[in-house]
Amino acid sequence: MTTTLDSGPSDDLGVAGARRRGAELERSIRERPGTFRALTGDRPTGRLHLGHYFGTLQNRVRLQNLGVEMMVLVADYQVLTDRDVADRLTERVEDLVLDYLAAGLDPGRATIFTHSAVPALNQLLLPFLSLVSVAELGRNPTVKDEIAHSRQSAVSGLMFTYPVHQAADILFCKAGIVPVGQDQLPHLEVARIIARRFNNRYGTPSNPVFPEPEALLSAAPLLLGTDGAKMSKSRDNAVALAATADETARLIRGAKTDAERHITYDPVARPEVSSLVLLAALCLGRDPHEVAAGIGGRGAAALKALVTDAINDHFAPLRARRAELAGDRGHVRRVLRDGNARAAAVAAATLAEVRTAMGAVY
Ligand code: ATP
Ligand code: MG
Repeated sequence: MTTTLDSGPSDDLGVAGARRRGAELERSIRERPGTFRALTGDRPTGRLHLGHYFGTLQNRVRLQNLGVEMMVLVADYQVLTDRDVADRLTERVEDLVLDYLAAGLDPGRATIFTHSAVPALNQLLLPFLSLVSVAELGRNPTVKDEIAHSRQSAVSGLMFTYPVHQAADILFCKAGIVPVGQDQLPHLEVARIIARRFNNRYGTPSNPVFPEPEALLSAAPLLLGTDGAKMSKSRDNAVALAATADETARLIRGAKTDAERHITYDPVARPEVSSLVLLAALCLGRDPHEVAAGIGGRGAAALKALVTDAINDHFAPLRARRAELAGDRGHVRRVLRDGNARAAAVAAATLAEVRTAMGAVY
């Protein structure tokens, strides 16, 4: 789709700048895709949803198919940022990998791995924590939002420091590109700051240890859920990629809209209705303004029927592939084993470089 979508009220969080830099990056990627490495990941807190797909997953598959080296992290340690126990972890990790494979990530080209299996990555957290102040950690708007939605009575140290852990996720493999949703922009800034400060403190100007990574936003960097807030695995407002056609219909039927019958696409004034319009537009590959005009005075029920059909048609092949893959859990485990071994080798090499730069070689 070539349309530039209205990015809504949150441009002040750096979306406009990220889009500008992303456009330049896209040009370089097209010229020489093989020179780029990308890293992204998801928390195994539940099944992936449409926000993941249109926010980042589709972009990952596109980059992989262009020839960019793709590293995909199942962020199992980060499950513990906002809950005491990582529930049903094995099942959720495997479910996540199934979603990746069904969406088109190819384990022959993409490295799919988990935090807990790559100790050298986690070790980077220690020197990185020394490079940021407590005040900087406390100012992170995404962390503040997540604390507001957290079900924990007390805020854990991991909640405040996980953006630094994410910097380790990105920098252990020296990824230059990070295809993410809008909520991740503050974390990307933390990773850039850490790369810069590490280089200044321990590197030489002609030989920096870490590149400064860039976010790559999609056309839908903040898809809203059925309640009008960011679609999230942990907020009971998501349509899962693997939902059935009936479940999808039920969830969309229950989605929040507003009192105005005439349907328009106006993400700032009408976020809930516009999010539904956007979903249909993304699935149909059409302009959201045109989709809204096509519904016009027929109201929210007609819009919801269109959205439901559009989602179910668009995701039918992915859902069928996922059901097929789910029959072979052994394959999923092999994908992770291979990915973990590859990621561990990359992490060991970077940690050795870091220790050399810090003079910690004995
Ligand atoms: P949780 O509620 O457990 O935090 P989540 O739905 O926020 O889950 P994450 O695993 O935290 O998902 O995010 C994984 C990736 O998906 C990140 O790059 C994030 O920016 C992106 N993402 C998540 N939700 C959305 C959304 N609603 N719109 C666009 N991108 C999204
Ligand atoms: Mg999240």
